[in-house]
Amino acid sequence: EVALYAAGGGLAMCDAIMRGEAVHGFCAIRPPGHHAERDYAAGFCIFNNIATAARYLQTEHGLKKVAIVDWDVHHGNGTQHSFEQDESVLYVSTHQYPYYPGTGSYREKGSGSGEGYTLNVPMEAGAGAEEYLEAFEKTIVPELEDYEPEIILISAGFDGHRNDLLSAIGLSTGTFRKFTEMLLGVARGCCSNRVIAFLEGGYNLQALADSCELM
Ligand code: ZN
Repeated sequence: EVALYAAGGGLAMCDAIMRGEAVHGFCAIRPPGHHAERDYAAGFCIFNNIATAARYLQTEHGLKKVAIVDWDVHHGNGTQHSFEQDESVLYVSTHQYPYYPGTGSYREKGSGSGEGYTLNVPMEAGAGAEEYLEAFEKTIVPELEDYEPEIILISAGFDGHRNDLLSAIGLSTGTFRKFTEMLLGVARGCCSNRVIAFLEGGYNLQALADSCELM
């Protein structure tokens, strides 16, 4: 029941943004979604909230190009698999690699008409702000600007925080804020400012609360 509310909450946010009631939204929903595949749950995820929202924006609100940026410390296998053969959804992920769930090599770039619309930027254990900010500045932001989406969806996981025991990545609360600022900058240029973040992982409650608030 809670998982249905989480997925539905994302759709309600899509409706609000597309009606112009807000330009930015943060969906404080759990369980997270990005590991859930079409037909099975995985990694704490029951339904893929962000993938469902991306398709909903296309079918119910007529958007043609949606970008998903996934900065959770784990690769969003379910989201990638949902759209890897689909050029109408760009999926970009940065994550600790190799790590759970095992997918997310830089060699995974999509297939068929979706080839080139999946971008994986894996990070080695021990990486921190320097490596991540370089990835955002040199790879992720230019890719988004080139794609020109009509909305940016964020899989906002905070398990890459240095105080989160689930990863070996050393990000700070302020670094997540910098990610947000860069994506808002892209959104100002191409998607009428529209950005929706979906809460994914994050297991140190203080780091999670602080990062959600500041992002
Ligand atoms: Zn995670």
